[in-house]
Amino acid sequence: MIIIGAGPIGLACGIEARKAGLDFLIIEKGTLANSIYNYPVNMTFFSTSQKLEMGDIPFMSIENKPRRTEALEYYRRVSQAYGLPINYYEEATTVTGKAGEFTVTTSKATYHTKFVIVATGFYDVPNYLNVPGEELSKVAHYYKEPWPYVGQKVVVIGAGNSAVDAALECWRKGADVTMIIQHEAIDRNVKYWVLPDIENRIKEGSIKALFNTKVKEIHPKSLLLENESGDFEIENDFVLAMTGYKPNYPLLKKFEIDLIDENQIPCFDQQNHETNRKGMYLAGVVCGGLNTRSYFIENSIEHSQKILSDIKEKIHLYK
Ligand SMILES: Cc1cc2nc3c(=O)[nH]c(=O)nc-3n(C[C@H](O)[C@H](O)[C@H](O)COP(=O)(O)OP(=O)(O)OC[C@H]3O[C@@H](n4cnc5c(N)ncnc54)[C@H](O)[C@@H]3O)c2cc1C
Repeated sequence: MIIIGAGPIGLACGIEARKAGLDFLIIEKGTLANSIYNYPVNMTFFSTSQKLEMGDIPFMSIENKPRRTEALEYYRRVSQAYGLPINYYEEATTVTGKAGEFTVTTSKATYHTKFVIVATGFYDVPNYLNVPGEELSKVAHYYKEPWPYVGQKVVVIGAGNSAVDAALECWRKGADVTMIIQHEAIDRNVKYWVLPDIENRIKEGSIKALFNTKVKEIHPKSLLLENESGDFEIENDFVLAMTGYKPNYPLLKKFEIDLIDENQIPCFDQQNHETNRKGMYLAGVVCGGLNTRSYFIENSIEHSQKILSDIKEKIHLYK
């Protein structure tokens, strides 16, 4: 069996495969838990560490909600404890053949396998604004830490957790922060202990927020914005476009996984997570398609059990 992606859920599938005594390999295009590695450096999870536990390995964290580095260490310990075979910096590109005789091609090798689990997440492809100037080096779709923005005029686009965390951190390190929000309020799904902080900073005027406003053009030293009164320009040094992410659809297409409805949800059976392509399974947050809030680590760990119990039932078919 080949598992594509060594995020939390790819690892959970590896644990179940190990328990089942299967011969398997995890292929990862980056480092271990690559998405979490690329999260903001100071990010705190909204889940408690206990709810993220897998494979009966306790997840210890200083506070009840773990930080990014604690999660990275946890996943390292999990992969070590189960001796998970992971090939890093190897990208899966195509899967040909059928159940029992798939051929998986990667950036480094070709593998023959009976089953494939796709656990590729949604953090590799940002939702682009598609406006002129988005390609300028001052625009980032991933936020890491506040230090580059000290004393700078920073625009944060978006109103969700990522946007709010970035706005607050940058403002606390001395950036002049303006949030551009296309709706009339901060997203109600923002972490409950962070929401009052951002709302009060906006109310007192420390962080400026332009609601019902969109970015029309990005220029080297300014932004052209639009709201119901028309177009207007503001001075700007950096843009943090925290507009969310989506699954890698070209890859899913190459894997011949169909999509359903306007949320482009990949086609899979809720009972066993097998896709329309027999022998190919989907696990983790990629299952939600554009609805990236429907799955998270907490409610995706069980995908690994569903998939592996199905594979255990079917494996004799391909001996
Ligand atoms: C800022 C942020 C905070 C979050 N906080 C929480 C939280 O508190 N609690 C919670 O439960 N969830 C949280 N989530 C959601 C959840 O943590 C993540 O989306 C989680 O990482 C999903 O796990 P996954 O294994 O499904 O996908 P990912 O962790 O995204 O793993 C996918 C892996 O597949 C690899 N990959 C992709 N394509 C290929 C390829 N072609 N070949 C090889 N490898 C490939 C990637 O490099 C990556 O390592 C958060 C998400 C974000 C963005």
